Amino acid sequence: MLYIGSHVGFNKSSQLLGSLEEALSYGSNTFMFYTGAPQNTIRYTIDDELTSKAIKKMQENNISLEKIIVHAPYIVNLANNDKEKHQFAINFLKQEIIRCEKLGITKMVLHPGSHVGSGIDLGIENIIDGLNKVLEIDNSVCILLETMAGKGSEVGSSFIEIKKIIDGVKKKELIGVCLDTCHIHDAGYDLNSFDKVLDEFDNIIGLKYLKCLHINDSKNVCGSRKDRHENIGKGYIGLDNLLKIIYHKRLDDIPKILETPYINDKAPYKEEIELIRRNKAI
Ligand code: FE
Ligand code: FE
Ligand code: ZN
Repeated sequence: MLYIGSHVGFNKSSQLLGSLEEALSYGSNTFMFYTGAPQNTIRYTIDDELTSKAIKKMQENNISLEKIIVHAPYIVNLANNDKEKHQFAINFLKQEIIRCEKLGITKMVLHPGSHVGSGIDLGIENIIDGLNKVLEIDNSVCILLETMAGKGSEVGSSFIEIKKIIDGVKKKELIGVCLDTCHIHDAGYDLNSFDKVLDEFDNIIGLKYLKCLHINDSKNVCGSRKDRHENIGKGYIGLDNLLKIIYHKRLDDIPKILETPYINDKAPYKEEIELIRRNKAI
Protein backbone atom coordinates (compact mmCIF):
# COMPACT_ATOMS: atom_id res chain seq x y z
CA MET A 1 0.00 0.00 0.00
CA LEU A 2 1.10 3.56 -0.68
CA TYR A 3 1.76 5.63 2.44
CA ILE A 4 2.21 9.21 1.33
CA GLY A 5 2.27 12.40 3.38
CA SER A 6 4.34 15.42 4.15
CA HIS A 7 6.16 17.36 6.75
CA VAL A 8 3.53 19.09 8.97
CA GLY A 9 3.65 21.52 11.89
CA PHE A 10 3.42 20.72 15.59
CA ASN A 11 2.44 23.51 17.94
CA LYS A 12 2.03 23.88 21.67
CA SER A 13 -1.76 24.22 21.75
CA SER A 14 -2.85 21.39 19.44
CA GLN A 15 0.24 19.13 19.28
CA LEU A 16 -0.26 15.71 17.62
CA LEU A 17 -3.96 16.47 17.01
CA GLY A 18 -3.05 19.60 15.03
CA SER A 19 -0.38 17.75 13.05
CA LEU A 20 -2.88 15.01 12.19
CA GLU A 21 -5.55 17.51 11.11
CA GLU A 22 -3.06 19.28 8.86
CA ALA A 23 -2.00 15.94 7.32
CA LEU A 24 -5.64 14.93 6.73
CA SER A 25 -6.29 18.24 4.98
CA TYR A 26 -3.65 17.27 2.40
CA GLY A 27 -5.14 13.80 1.84
CA SER A 28 -2.17 12.13 3.55
CA ASN A 29 -2.12 8.74 5.26
CA THR A 30 1.20 9.36 6.98
CA PHE A 31 3.11 12.48 8.12
CA MET A 32 6.27 13.74 9.76
CA PHE A 33 6.81 16.55 12.26
CA TYR A 34 9.37 18.13 14.55
CA THR A 35 8.28 18.20 18.21
CA GLY A 36 9.13 21.94 18.16
CA ALA A 37 11.01 24.21 15.76
CA PRO A 38 13.42 22.28 13.46
CA GLN A 39 16.22 24.78 14.09
CA ASN A 40 16.15 24.90 17.90
CA THR A 41 15.89 22.51 20.83
CA ILE A 42 13.13 24.24 22.81
CA ARG A 43 10.45 21.61 23.31
CA TYR A 44 6.95 21.57 24.85
CA THR A 45 5.68 19.11 27.41
CA ILE A 46 3.53 16.51 25.69
CA ASP A 47 -0.14 16.87 26.60
CA ASP A 48 -1.56 13.35 27.08
CA GLU A 49 -5.13 14.49 26.53
CA LEU A 50 -4.32 15.90 23.08
CA THR A 51 -2.38 12.74 22.28
CA SER A 52 -5.33 10.47 23.09
CA LYS A 53 -7.69 12.66 21.04
CA ALA A 54 -5.25 12.42 18.14
CA ILE A 55 -4.94 8.65 18.45
CA LYS A 56 -8.73 8.27 18.42
CA LYS A 57 -8.96 10.43 15.31
CA MET A 58 -6.22 8.39 13.64
CA GLN A 59 -8.18 5.21 14.21
CA GLU A 60 -11.29 6.82 12.68
CA ASN A 61 -9.22 7.77 9.64
CA ASN A 62 -7.30 4.50 9.29
CA ILE A 63 -3.97 6.11 10.03
CA SER A 64 -1.46 3.93 11.77
CA LEU A 65 0.86 5.44 14.42
CA GLU A 66 3.49 3.02 13.25
CA LYS A 67 3.78 4.98 9.95
CA ILE A 68 4.22 8.39 11.57
CA ILE A 69 7.67 9.95 11.83
CA VAL A 70 9.32 12.44 14.15
CA HIS A 71 12.32 14.38 12.81
CA ALA A 72 14.97 15.35 15.35
CA PRO A 73 16.04 19.02 15.12
CA TYR A 74 18.88 19.46 12.65
CA ILE A 75 21.16 21.31 15.04
CA VAL A 76 21.82 18.28 17.25
CA ASN A 77 25.17 16.98 16.08
CA LEU A 78 26.41 13.63 17.34
CA ALA A 79 29.45 13.90 15.03
CA ASN A 80 30.83 16.93 16.86
CA ASN A 81 34.18 16.29 18.50
CA ASP A 82 33.51 19.04 21.05
CA LYS A 83 32.71 17.04 24.20
CA GLU A 84 30.06 19.44 25.47
CA LYS A 85 28.18 19.68 22.18
CA HIS A 86 28.39 15.91 21.74
CA GLN A 87 26.98 15.35 25.22
CA PHE A 88 24.26 17.94 24.61
CA ALA A 89 23.15 16.01 21.51
CA ILE A 90 23.05 12.74 23.46
CA ASN A 91 20.98 14.26 26.27
CA PHE A 92 18.59 15.94 23.86
CA LEU A 93 18.02 12.76 21.85
CA LYS A 94 17.29 10.75 24.99
CA GLN A 95 14.60 13.30 25.89
CA GLU A 96 13.30 13.28 22.31
CA ILE A 97 12.92 9.50 22.48
CA ILE A 98 10.91 9.85 25.68
CA ARG A 99 8.67 12.41 23.93
CA CYS A 100 8.22 10.01 20.98
CA GLU A 101 7.24 7.23 23.36
CA LYS A 102 4.67 9.47 25.06
CA LEU A 103 3.21 10.19 21.61
CA GLY A 104 3.27 6.52 20.63
CA ILE A 105 5.70 7.22 17.76
CA THR A 106 8.23 4.50 16.97
CA LYS A 107 10.40 6.15 14.29
CA MET A 108 12.66 9.18 14.60
CA VAL A 109 14.69 10.54 11.67
CA LEU A 110 18.12 11.93 12.54
CA HIS A 111 20.76 13.67 10.44
CA PRO A 112 23.92 11.69 11.28
CA GLY A 113 25.83 14.94 11.86
CA SER A 114 28.68 17.11 10.60
CA HIS A 115 32.27 16.50 11.63
CA VAL A 116 33.01 20.26 11.42
CA GLY A 117 36.66 19.78 10.48
CA SER A 118 37.67 16.80 12.61
CA GLY A 119 37.49 14.42 9.63
CA ILE A 120 35.05 11.78 8.44
CA ASP A 121 36.50 8.88 10.47
CA LEU A 122 36.39 10.70 13.79
CA GLY A 123 32.94 12.00 12.87
CA ILE A 124 31.68 8.45 12.33
CA GLU A 125 33.31 7.30 15.57
CA ASN A 126 31.57 10.09 17.51
CA ILE A 127 28.21 9.28 15.91
CA ILE A 128 28.53 5.60 16.83
CA ASP A 129 29.55 6.43 20.39
CA GLY A 130 26.65 8.89 20.69
CA LEU A 131 24.06 6.51 19.26
CA ASN A 132 25.13 3.71 21.60
CA LYS A 133 24.75 6.06 24.57
CA VAL A 134 21.36 7.32 23.38
CA LEU A 135 20.12 3.77 22.84
CA GLU A 136 21.21 2.70 26.34
CA ILE A 137 17.85 3.91 27.61
CA ASP A 138 15.22 1.24 27.44
CA ASN A 139 12.93 2.16 24.59
CA SER A 140 11.28 1.02 21.42
CA VAL A 141 11.94 4.06 19.22
CA CYS A 142 13.97 3.29 16.11
CA ILE A 143 16.46 5.98 15.02
CA LEU A 144 16.51 6.40 11.23
CA LEU A 145 19.76 7.84 9.89
CA GLU A 146 19.02 10.16 6.98
CA THR A 147 21.14 9.96 3.83
CA MET A 148 22.69 13.42 3.37
CA ALA A 149 23.59 15.60 0.39
CA GLY A 150 27.22 16.02 1.50
CA LYS A 151 26.98 19.76 2.08
CA GLY A 152 29.87 21.15 4.18
CA SER A 153 31.22 18.42 6.44
CA GLU A 154 28.04 16.32 6.59
CA VAL A 155 28.54 12.65 7.40
CA GLY A 156 26.26 10.11 5.72
CA SER A 157 26.29 11.19 2.08
CA SER A 158 27.24 7.70 0.89
CA PHE A 159 25.72 4.31 1.64
CA ILE A 160 29.16 3.17 2.83
CA GLU A 161 29.28 5.86 5.53
CA ILE A 162 25.79 4.95 6.72
CA LYS A 163 26.79 1.28 6.76
CA LYS A 164 29.89 2.05 8.86
CA ILE A 165 27.70 3.79 11.44
CA ILE A 166 25.20 0.92 11.58
CA ASP A 167 28.07 -1.56 11.98
CA GLY A 168 29.12 0.21 15.17
CA VAL A 169 25.66 0.39 16.74
CA LYS A 170 25.03 -2.33 19.31
CA LYS A 171 21.22 -2.36 19.30
CA LYS A 172 20.72 -2.98 15.57
CA GLU A 173 16.98 -3.50 16.06
CA LEU A 174 16.74 0.21 16.96
CA ILE A 175 18.58 1.61 13.95
CA GLY A 176 17.31 2.19 10.42
CA VAL A 177 17.72 4.49 7.43
CA CYS A 178 15.67 7.29 5.88
CA LEU A 179 16.46 7.78 2.19
CA ASP A 180 16.01 11.35 0.93
CA THR A 181 15.73 11.52 -2.87
CA CYS A 182 17.02 15.11 -3.11
CA HIS A 183 19.95 14.30 -0.85
CA ILE A 184 21.11 11.14 -2.65
CA HIS A 185 20.75 12.89 -6.05
CA ASP A 186 22.80 15.83 -4.74
CA ALA A 187 25.32 13.37 -3.27
CA GLY A 188 25.88 11.92 -6.75
CA TYR A 189 23.53 8.90 -7.02
CA ASP A 190 21.92 8.91 -10.46
CA LEU A 191 18.16 8.50 -10.03
CA ASN A 192 17.75 7.90 -13.76
CA SER A 193 18.98 4.40 -12.84
CA PHE A 194 17.11 4.00 -9.58
CA ASP A 195 17.08 0.18 -9.69
CA LYS A 196 20.86 0.25 -9.69
CA VAL A 197 20.89 2.68 -6.75
CA LEU A 198 18.45 0.50 -4.82
CA ASP A 199 20.55 -2.61 -5.50
CA GLU A 200 23.60 -0.74 -4.24
CA PHE A 201 21.68 0.26 -1.11
CA ASP A 202 20.61 -3.35 -0.61
CA ASN A 203 24.12 -4.74 -1.13
CA ILE A 204 25.86 -2.24 1.12
CA ILE A 205 23.33 -1.47 3.87
CA GLY A 206 20.50 -3.96 3.40
CA LEU A 207 16.97 -3.05 2.35
CA LYS A 208 15.56 -4.23 5.68
CA TYR A 209 17.04 -1.10 7.29
CA LEU A 210 15.08 1.23 5.00
CA LYS A 211 12.14 2.52 7.09
CA CYS A 212 11.27 5.91 5.57
CA LEU A 213 11.68 7.87 2.34
CA HIS A 214 11.80 11.63 1.88
CA ILE A 215 10.41 12.46 -1.54
CA ASN A 216 11.79 15.73 -2.88
CA ASP A 217 12.88 17.02 -6.24
CA SER A 218 16.18 18.94 -6.37
CA LYS A 219 17.01 22.48 -7.52
CA ASN A 220 20.48 21.31 -8.56
CA VAL A 221 22.19 18.77 -10.78
CA CYS A 222 23.25 15.31 -9.63
CA GLY A 223 26.38 15.50 -7.48
CA SER A 224 26.01 19.22 -6.64
CA ARG A 225 26.07 18.56 -2.83
CA LYS A 226 23.79 21.59 -2.31
CA ASP A 227 20.67 20.20 -0.56
CA ARG A 228 18.03 22.53 -1.95
CA HIS A 229 14.66 20.84 -2.28
CA GLU A 230 12.39 21.53 -5.25
CA ASN A 231 8.70 20.85 -5.81
CA ILE A 232 7.72 17.50 -7.31
CA GLY A 233 8.44 17.39 -11.04
CA LYS A 234 9.99 20.86 -11.15
CA GLY A 235 13.61 19.94 -10.53
CA TYR A 236 16.50 17.91 -11.86
CA ILE A 237 15.15 14.54 -10.65
CA GLY A 238 11.85 14.92 -12.48
CA LEU A 239 8.35 13.53 -12.06
CA ASP A 240 8.91 10.20 -13.83
CA ASN A 241 11.91 9.28 -11.71
CA LEU A 242 10.11 10.28 -8.50
CA LEU A 243 7.00 8.28 -9.46
CA LYS A 244 9.14 5.25 -10.17
CA ILE A 245 10.55 5.49 -6.65
CA ILE A 246 7.19 6.19 -5.00
CA TYR A 247 5.50 3.21 -6.69
CA HIS A 248 8.51 0.88 -6.59
CA LYS A 249 7.44 -2.65 -5.62
CA ARG A 250 10.34 -3.09 -3.22
CA LEU A 251 9.41 0.12 -1.40
CA ASP A 252 5.72 -0.59 -0.90
CA ASP A 253 4.43 0.10 2.65
CA ILE A 254 7.41 2.32 3.53
CA PRO A 255 6.17 5.80 4.56
CA LYS A 256 7.01 8.46 1.96
CA ILE A 257 7.23 12.05 3.14
CA LEU A 258 7.28 15.22 1.02
CA GLU A 259 9.52 18.05 2.24
CA THR A 260 9.12 20.26 -0.81
CA PRO A 261 9.14 24.07 -0.50
CA TYR A 262 6.07 26.22 0.06
CA ILE A 263 4.77 28.10 -2.99
CA ASN A 264 3.72 31.71 -2.27
CA ASP A 265 3.61 30.94 1.48
CA LYS A 266 1.27 28.03 0.87
CA ALA A 267 1.96 24.34 1.47
CA PRO A 268 2.05 22.50 -1.88
CA TYR A 269 1.32 19.09 -0.36
CA LYS A 270 -2.38 18.66 -1.21
CA GLU A 271 -1.67 19.28 -4.91
CA GLU A 272 1.51 17.22 -4.92
CA ILE A 273 -0.19 14.26 -3.25
CA GLU A 274 -3.04 14.49 -5.77
CA LEU A 275 -0.49 14.60 -8.60
CA ILE A 276 1.21 11.49 -7.21
CA ARG A 277 -2.02 9.55 -6.73
CA ARG A 278 -3.27 10.53 -10.19
CA ASN A 279 -0.15 9.16 -11.85
CA LYS A 280 -0.25 5.72 -10.27
CA ALA A 281 -0.42 3.92 -13.61
CA ILE A 282 2.84 5.33 -15.00
FE1 FE B 1 16.11 15.77 7.24
FE1 FE C 1 14.94 14.94 4.26
ZN1 ZN D 1 17.35 18.39 2.78
